Amino acid sequence: LKGCEVACLADGFDGFIVDLDGVVHLGWDPLPGAVQTLTHLARAGKGIVFLTNDPRYGRDTIAARLRAFGLTVDGEAVVTSGWAAALQMAAQPGAVYVIGSPELREEVLRAGATVLDAAEAARADRVLVGGHSGFDYDELRAACRAGANGAQLFATNRDATFPMPDGPWPATGAILAAVETALGRRALSVGKPEPEIFRVARERLGPGRVAVVGDRLDTDVLGGRRAGLPTILVHNSPLPPRTTDDCHPDHCVTSLSGLLA
Ligand SMILES: [Mg+2]
Repeated sequence: LKGCEVACLADGFDGFIVDLDGVVHLGWDPLPGAVQTLTHLARAGKGIVFLTNDPRYGRDTIAARLRAFGLTVDGEAVVTSGWAAALQMAAQPGAVYVIGSPELREEVLRAGATVLDAAEAARADRVLVGGHSGFDYDELRAACRAGANGAQLFATNRDATFPMPDGPWPATGAILAAVETALGRRALSVGKPEPEIFRVARERLGPGRVAVVGDRLDTDVLGGRRAGLPTILVHNSPLPPRTTDDCHPDHCVTSLSGLLA
């Protein structure tokens, strides 16, 4: 592989399922070396699919952000927990009340599901929770009404936080905890570490050996292992990763450019 002086980690794989937050970017800025590494991999013919648990943005929005970094990407190469949840919402009859960003609601609508607003939530068959900064008491109250009438509870993901330049910010899991407490039951989560979303991402790559690359043990590594894929942890903290017997990566790098080392 060009860019490797000698055989490098990336040589062992034909494609990669790459996490975004904390691997490719932090907030709105690319991480050092990430764009160059992804460009090298693409030129070497490696398949790349981006897989994120962030439910706030549509796939085209995320692809546009990556293009602004200088990468050649379209929405087809992006899998989000919000999109996977939207497909699941549309696969069953009935109506959905969505706690989430306007883009998540749009994604659920575009997938073909009937989406109710807060005033109609009492007749929802399902509630879908995706973390967003506009979460408020009215949304929680609407979910509560739907839950009291027997609506099923789903979540895009369970990440407690996502990394930002000034430290972790609350993610879907933090908001979901409020909804689960109010409804008195646990949601079915669609995103990482559920193996199905890795299968969706894997199907978008050609045949060959595919590795999962991510910065979280509890989502990227655990989910990759559950899906039967080799895993590469991106770990740049001075503390060693807190691995367990059933959740340890096959490889560990300090940044995405470690794939070329
Ligand atoms: Mg991440």
